Amino acid sequence: MHEFTAEVEALAAEVLAYSLDRLKNDPPLDGPRTAEDLFNEVGNTITAKGLGGHDALEVFTSVLAKACISTDHPRNLAFIPSAPSEYANLFDLVVGASALYGGSWQEGAGAVFAENQALRWLSDLAGMPESAGGVFVQGGTIGNLSALVVARTEAKKKSPDATKWVIACSEEAHSSIVSAANVMDVEIMKVPVAADGKLMGSAVAAAIDALHTTTSKRVFVVVATSGTTNLGIIDDLEGIATAAHARDIWFHVDGAYGLAALCAPSVRKHFNGIEQADSFIVDPHKWLFAPYDACALIYREPELARAVHSQHASYLDTLKDGAWSPSDYAIQLTRRTRGLPFWFSLAAHGTDAYTEAMEHTLEIARAAAELVRAHPHLELVCEPELSIVAFIRKGWTASDYQKWSDQLLSDQIGFIPPSSHHGQPILRFAIVNPWTKVSDIKLIMDRL
Ligand SMILES: *Cc1c(COP(=O)(O)O)cnc(C)c1O
Repeated sequence: MHEFTAEVEALAAEVLAYSLDRLKNDPPLDGPRTAEDLFNEVGNTITAKGLGGHDALEVFTSVLAKACISTDHPRNLAFIPSAPSEYANLFDLVVGASALYGGSWQEGAGAVFAENQALRWLSDLAGMPESAGGVFVQGGTIGNLSALVVARTEAKKKSPDATKWVIACSEEAHSSIVSAANVMDVEIMKVPVAADGKLMGSAVAAAIDALHTTTSKRVFVVVATSGTTNLGIIDDLEGIATAAHARDIWFHVDGAYGLAALCAPSVRKHFNGIEQADSFIVDPHKWLFAPYDACALIYREPELARAVHSQHASYLDTLKDGAWSPSDYAIQLTRRTRGLPFWFSLAAHGTDAYTEAMEHTLEIARAAAELVRAHPHLELVCEPELSIVAFIRKGWTASDYQKWSDQLLSDQIGFIPPSSHHGQPILRFAIVNPWTKVSDIKLIMDRL
């Protein structure tokens, strides 16, 4: 019955050797190639007889892997990169080898128990009540959507006569909120931010009241961002919580990137008000040193989510035994126990190590901001509140930025694609990797 032949064993050694090598050494930056180019090199890899494990692995390691940018390279500061700890990556191998089913307590009790302890840590950092809980989903996009669907169900109970449902958020809210609105067929009301880029409670209150007194549309959720993906700006969580709750409206906090810093004392106070959230998300695959893909979705009252998301079918009824089944809390049924690599690393290293690593990335960001200030050609877009440092290169056009960025990647120095702010091109460093050093920042800046 067992298929672990000598051939599989030899392949296992090769796979482990490659994985160990990847973990031990500095990752190569690498870069994309066209599909045509790749086809010319590897041809059609799907064949009737199969390539065999050794050759298929060879195709991957020598060609395909090199056509993928390493998101954990210390000078990959693009979008929001990733920096999984070695422990988290190693444990991902264990998860891969274990055929764990993470959808139900009955099948995955031990794994779900561990995931829930990791969720508890995040929930306690946020100051949520003991009853709070949730689930690890694929990413912030699915986490936001799952929470917003619960928010709308609650609103329907309160305002059965609403003619259209509306999400209130800022113009800086993440694109996944627009995506959720499309999927849900609801509208978005983009509330203007203050001069410092923050969405304020007073602006939210005024916008909702204006909408509610002049139309029969109803805001069912206010989404605060903490912090924004482009600049790392944290909305006025306290003020927005008050504005939302005074109107009996769900308060959701999208902290896919920034809420990771709840464990960093130096910035913790910026998140005050998070304890009043009805739901929030944070992606451990962004700034909590976990591999893709894992978003922690947490509800203040998880039973509200269960009532919305639990799937019913004759063959599933045996699972409705009152136990905590992760698939009940989001849009999903079968799920990988994707929170386990994060749990393992957190359990093994301890939470102090997380605080330390987080503070370290924040310090590098502050040092980078200082270097921007001192640089003759650069100017900060705003003071970094978290670990995103955004700046302009004086005198450059959009095409200058793009050319510089393309050259940086082709020289294998770093990956810093241009972004924009208020229609102006900018550069941004998203620093989430504890291995990014000040010397890495200097290396990049010397080319500006
Ligand atoms: C990255 C991000 C998301 C989307 O998360 P994914 O994991 O990429 O789906 C949502 N909101 C914010 C603020 C983000 O930074």
